[in-house]
Amino acid sequence: MIHDPERGPLVKQAFEMYGTGLHTKRKVLVTINAAGLRTVKGKPLTDQAIDSMLRNPVYAGWLQVKGWGERQRGDFEPLVSQDVFDRVQAILSGKRVSVMPRLRSHPDFPLRHFVKCGCCGRPLTASWAKGRTKRHGYYRCQNRECPGVHVRKENLERGFVELLERMQPKPGYLKLFSEIVLDVWKEKQAQNVMLTTSLKHHIEDLNRRKEQLEDSFIYEKAIDRETYQRQLDKLNEQIVLAEMQERDAKLEGYDVEGVLNFADHVILNAARLWTEFSSDQKQRLQKVLFPQGVTFADGIYKTTETCLIFKLLQESKGEKSGLVPPPGIELGSAV
Ligand SMILES: [Zn+2]
Repeated sequence: MIHDPERGPLVKQAFEMYGTGLHTKRKVLVTINAAGLRTVKGKPLTDQAIDSMLRNPVYAGWLQVKGWGERQRGDFEPLVSQDVFDRVQAILSGKRVSVMPRLRSHPDFPLRHFVKCGCCGRPLTASWAKGRTKRHGYYRCQNRECPGVHVRKENLERGFVELLERMQPKPGYLKLFSEIVLDVWKEKQAQNVMLTTSLKHHIEDLNRRKEQLEDSFIYEKAIDRETYQRQLDKLNEQIVLAEMQERDAKLEGYDVEGVLNFADHVILNAARLWTEFSSDQKQRLQKVLFPQGVTFADGIYKTTETCLIFKLLQESKGEKSGLVPPPGIELGSAV
């Protein structure tokens, strides 16, 4: 697929789409199948095929030697960058947070499966129920035996917006926070420039030694083939390692001020944005802000783990946080 002018770009698109962490594997599959990606046999990709495709290091330019368990750089142009490939692997293995909407999400109930029942801890489910005159949406505990939660859609969602409003920090705190982040960032960047330079020298040095090794094997005949191969493997390994470290140290491509401004905007407007967003976007935003979800009981939201920035800003307001959850929001009559 690498040298295939039609399939190559679609494979690349699949990696980049999944690497954002915004889409499920299934969504990527549907998208690239619709765009025309086919297997060698001319069939649309299956769930299994896309999974093994996203895990295959050949697309990042690596050759896996069968039975060796080792990989080597191939002498062809990789289809996806190492950076994108690594990100995809981190998402696949769950090491990186992704904010995909749920597979079977219902557009009418963005909080379904996200809010947990405060009584038994299970995620809430939701559905429409027919009343005498019109139908009403309800969120309720999955466990039919549990008396925990049975609440009107409007009430649960309004309560969530109020929770977001309460959590929004004062602009002044946020500004201070951004300045601190920027300061730390600049310092880190300066360190990374130094590290990158020294790694570059190290790589150059290793490449020089490789040339010397080749000279002494080919021209001077000073070493035998076995020694040459052993030394060459060792040097290649060191070069790959140093190149990886160099990639990790490169941060300058980031527009950190732009990112911070955007984060400020989202955090200061979380409640309004959530209200205006589509159902998929709502699910992404709430997952970013509350990675562990929220709990609802007795008409009150209880947050356990919020996103790091909210936590830091709450603490900087001088409120006691720690293990005590912030006071919840009272909702009128629950049902
Ligand atoms: Zn329950």
